[in-house]
Amino acid sequence: MKKGELLYEGKGKKLYKTDDENLLIAEFKDDLTAFNAQKRGSEAGKGALNNKISTQIFRLLKEHGIQTHLVDTISETEQVIKKVDIIPLEVVVRNIATGSLTKRLGIVEGTILPLTLVEFYYKNDDLNDPLVNDEHCIVMNLVKSEKDLQILRHLGREINSILFKFFEEKGLKLVDFKVEFGVDKDGNIILADEISPDSCRFWDAKTNEKLDKDRFRQGIGEVKVAYEEVLRRILS
Ligand code: UDP
Repeated sequence: MKKGELLYEGKGKKLYKTDDENLLIAEFKDDLTAFNAQKRGSEAGKGALNNKISTQIFRLLKEHGIQTHLVDTISETEQVIKKVDIIPLEVVVRNIATGSLTKRLGIVEGTILPLTLVEFYYKNDDLNDPLVNDEHCIVMNLVKSEKDLQILRHLGREINSILFKFFEEKGLKLVDFKVEFGVDKDGNIILADEISPDSCRFWDAKTNEKLDKDRFRQGIGEVKVAYEEVLRRILS
C-alpha cells in the first residue's frame, strides 16, 4: 500500500491518503497534549505504545462483534484504517467519578457510579469541547437522527462491558474513557480513532495508582512507564 499525502494532523495522530480511496494510514505521534492543548509535551515511544495498545483493544472488540475502522497494523506507529466521516462527538463512558465529572457536579472523586454514565461532548476546540444533550445534537446536525444517538449510547455501553471485564481480569480498573465513531461508505456507524491510555483512565486495582494520561495532566511523571505497564497487562 502506498502512503500518500498528509490529509490531516491531529493532536495524537497524522492521517495520510493511500492509493485506495476507501483506506487511510494513521500514524501515531509521540506528542502529548492536555487541557485543550494548553499543556504540551512529548514522550519518545508513546506513539508506538498507543498503536500497540489500541490495536489489541480494537481486535478484542472485533472478536466481540464491534465493528471498527482498523484494517491492519503495518508498523510500530502505523495502521491502515477505513476512511469514515467522523461524527463530531466525543462519547465519554464513566464507571467511577473523576475528572470533569467531579469538578462540574461535585460528585466525590472515586465514587463508583450506580450506573454506567454515557455523555456526549461536541468536538470543537474553539468551544472547549462542551457537554451537549440529545437535543443539542439534533439542533446542531451533529447526527442524522435520534436513532444514531441511541446507537452511539448502545455502542458506548457495549464497549464498556467488554473492556471493563477484560481490564478487571488484568488487575486494572477502567475508570472512564472516550471513544469516537464514524460513518463508513456503507452508512454503518463504526468505532474510529483510538482507545489507549491517552483516552482512557486506568487505575491499578490494588493501589489505585494512575496508569494513564493523568500522569501527564497532573505532572506525576513516568508516563511511558505507565503506558508500558498497561501494554504488559493487556498481553499477560
Ligand atoms: N478524554 C479524552 N479526550 C478529551 C477529553 C476527555 O480522551 O478531549 C477522556 C479522558 O482521558 C477520560 C475521559 O475522556 O478518560 C473523561 O474525561 P473528563 O471529561 O473527565 O475530562 P478531563 O478531566 O480530562 O478534562
